[in-house]
Amino acid sequence: MRAVPSVPSRSLGRVQELHDAPLAPLTTFRLGGPATRLITATTDEEVIAAVREADDSGAPLLLIGGGSNLVIGDKGFDGTALRIATRGFSLDGTRLELAAGEVWTDAVGRTVEAGLAGIECLAGIPGSAGATPIQNVGAYGQEVSSTITEVIAYDRRARETVTIPNAECAFSYRHSRFKADPGRHVVLRVRFELEDAQGLSAPVKYAETARALGVEPGDRVSLAVARETVLKLRSGKGMVLDPEDHDTWSAGSFFTNPVLTHEEFAAFHARVKELLGADAEPPAYAAGDGHTKTSAAWLIDKAGFTKGYGTGPARISTKHTLALTNRGGATTEDLLALAREVVAGVREAFGITLVNEPVTVGVSL
Ligand SMILES: Cc1cc2nc3c(=O)[nH]c(=O)nc-3n(C[C@H](O)[C@H](O)[C@H](O)COP(=O)(O)OP(=O)(O)OC[C@H]3O[C@@H](n4cnc5c(N)ncnc54)[C@H](O)[C@@H]3O)c2cc1C
Repeated sequence: MRAVPSVPSRSLGRVQELHDAPLAPLTTFRLGGPATRLITATTDEEVIAAVREADDSGAPLLLIGGGSNLVIGDKGFDGTALRIATRGFSLDGTRLELAAGEVWTDAVGRTVEAGLAGIECLAGIPGSAGATPIQNVGAYGQEVSSTITEVIAYDRRARETVTIPNAECAFSYRHSRFKADPGRHVVLRVRFELEDAQGLSAPVKYAETARALGVEPGDRVSLAVARETVLKLRSGKGMVLDPEDHDTWSAGSFFTNPVLTHEEFAAFHARVKELLGADAEPPAYAAGDGHTKTSAAWLIDKAGFTKGYGTGPARISTKHTLALTNRGGATTEDLLALAREVVAGVREAFGITLVNEPVTVGVSL
């Protein structure tokens, strides 16, 4: 594939099509080679037509929303990249429907302005509304699985538009049926049921948020204050996009928090004592079914990869151990080399293999 300046080759209505189109500018890492073809669709009909055309021709298809959870290989994508840029925000009482291409954090801001609770702690998460069900986006004690009622998607296997109720989305921590069966469902719209709590937030669940707000977990605060507090906490960790700040040229958390069985946790716990001393205690949170979740950031830090680690153009964020970042001029290979070094170091220290959170395209860890 040649990396040449992209040229518009066709314009059908508002559909825009480019060839040898750079994908790096469409990602928050600003990494990755070009796509053979890039289509930008602004209506559901355009999305479905582009997907059908790619499927009929047998061309591989890559769906792109805000590009904030994508690691695209340096060789790019040999197929059709479809950028979903549909728009639509509709509120009916407490029922919210978002088109897949809506900017998620802006939509959250509008629900807060409307006095509705349930997604206010998800403010500042980059990307599109349509991608939120894919990894069950979550932060600061909220996950979209708690408020999503239905996902409307084009099912590429059945070749029809389907409505998938929450109970059939198989949501779990940073996972869903959509992530398990990648590419099958093209999310068109997402429906949510929010709460009219008279301008108050949902009960604050996360200890760090409660501390910052000066309340107890379970208390409610003003919706606007909850949103602003989360945004402030996120900014301090480089978790709100800022083009001037390389700490945000990332995909947010690069690794998921490991969820361990009882036996795995016991072995890990013993290893921590052996390595860090009898008083050392790893973070541990009940994760259901006898499982325990520990902190990937803690593991990385204790394995010696502290904030700012690295000497090349890909380094650990200076604000958060869990974010791998492009300092400018990095390649995807630079990023992956750093990621592999971190995985190997954590495995050697603690016997735990970290799993990447962002979706990789044409490359693997
Ligand atoms: C600074 C920063 C902070 C972040 N903080 C958080 C956080 O707190 N919590 C969290 O959960 N995530 C976080 N993320 C990760 C990311 O923002 C989310 O996963 C977000 O939902 C990705 O949306 P996107 O539109 O950018 O998806 P993309 O990166 O464009 O795509 C991600 C995946 O979803 C697929 N996809 C995209 N749109 C659709 C669609 N309409 N239908 C079907 N598949 C689709 C893509 O093919 C790809 O597999 C953060 C990222 C950054 C850069």
